[in-house]
Amino acid sequence: MMETTMKNFFLFLSQNKLMNQAAKKWGLRFGANRFVAGETIREAIQKVQNLNEKGLVCTLDHLGEFVFSREEAIESADYCVKTLDAIHQAGVNSNLSLKLTQIGLDIDIDLCRSNMRRILDTAKKYGNFVRIDMEDYGHCQQTLDLLEELRRDYDNVGTVIQAYLYRTEKDIEKMKGVSLRLVKGAYKESPEVAYPDKKDVDENYKKIIKMHLLSGSYTAIASHDDQIIEYTKRLVEEYKIPRDQFEFQMLYGIRTQAQVELARQGYTMRVYVPYGNDWYGYFMRRLAERPANVAFVLKGMVSK
Ligand SMILES: Cc1cc2nc3c(=O)[nH]c(=O)nc-3n(C[C@H](O)[C@H](O)[C@H](O)COP(=O)(O)OP(=O)(O)OC[C@H]3O[C@@H](n4cnc5c(N)ncnc54)[C@H](O)[C@@H]3O)c2cc1C
Repeated sequence: MMETTMKNFFLFLSQNKLMNQAAKKWGLRFGANRFVAGETIREAIQKVQNLNEKGLVCTLDHLGEFVFSREEAIESADYCVKTLDAIHQAGVNSNLSLKLTQIGLDIDIDLCRSNMRRILDTAKKYGNFVRIDMEDYGHCQQTLDLLEELRRDYDNVGTVIQAYLYRTEKDIEKMKGVSLRLVKGAYKESPEVAYPDKKDVDENYKKIIKMHLLSGSYTAIASHDDQIIEYTKRLVEEYKIPRDQFEFQMLYGIRTQAQVELARQGYTMRVYVPYGNDWYGYFMRRLAERPANVAFVLKGMVSK
């Protein structure tokens, strides 16, 4: 009960526009630097370099919330291009993750499409890859439609599929050969579209991991859950899935020891590395996810 209240409280805070604007001026505060790699590209690239040295590969995400104007959407896309440039220049091992709403999905689909093409052209030039994060249910079909369209011209793009949605199994069936990141799902969805019960989500998650791997498609298993990681390890062993057909993914700052350990065992382990001055919403959502993170942050504030 207490946990649900806290979760809702932090999700509520995450959507507060005034706090979001203020936070841009504060700099990384309240322990946010545990989950956010820095405010500038330079800082983020340095963190990626450190992670690469530990045997981990990365995906960089330039944080951004509340994109309402064309100018903001174009600026966001510029950041994606600059991030790809910086990855190439520094020679670090990282691809890029982005959200379509950040580059204009809610403003104008044509703007979003042309931003996406610009980003994919840059990635292609560098032999790099772009992953489209999946947002709430309201954006799911649009995201899959745009991906299908883009894939006619680009082979360096993939997306994310969420195990909590009822529609997911059918989507997976249609997406043989597409590089997918599979996750449990992070948004608050209605029971009309998503399994309300965690147990059902976990079962569906295992099912789609198996489906996508056995169809021979590249699969990223993005989870901090040992039960899921162990399941995947057993599955790939049993079906002799080659190690270059899948990877594990976790978020920057979460289960860092486990990340290094998986890499040490010879698995590809990709860390999702968010950066930028728009860190507030992302940070609040991480706090909502896990009360232990709140305790950590409070400890940090008190001991300053
Ligand atoms: C790389 C990456 C990318 C993602 N991209 C998307 C996306 O595009 N769209 C989307 O909707 N969601 C995305 N998510 C979020 C995802 O949907 C889940 O909300 C989130 O990962 C929590 O689920 P989980 O599988 O990690 O495990 P949970 O079900 O949250 O936790 C299961 C168990 O994992 C362990 N665990 C979890 N967190 C911690 C921790 N902090 N420390 C120690 N142990 C822990 C605990 O044992 C816990 O009981 C992404 C997640 C990752 C890792």
